[in-house]
Amino acid sequence: MTLEQRTFISPGDILAVEYECDACHARYLAQVSTFKDLLGQCPNCKGTFISQTYADTSKRTDADALRHFIAALNDLRGRKVALRLEINAPVPSKR
Ligand SMILES: [Zn+2]
Repeated sequence: MTLEQRTFISPGDILAVEYECDACHARYLAQVSTFKDLLGQCPNCKGTFISQTYADTSKRTDADALRHFIAALNDLRGRKVALRLEINAPVPSKR
């Protein structure tokens, strides 16, 4: 017999999105339900937190992609859509 463990989350399970400064690795947690906008500058080292540009001009910037992602999560939370996302979760080892 083969057992398979799969883990799913719904948009409502996602409470916050964490992003990290490339320079100093300070982390910032953006709450999905109260999200207004991204921090443009790292509060720790004043470096650029999220890129406002992208080398490939056919793609949106990192900042725009993240803004849209969080906005979509917020939008989906209030809908009656049976949407679940499968995530890669570690399986506890057997003892
Ligand atoms: Zn920093």
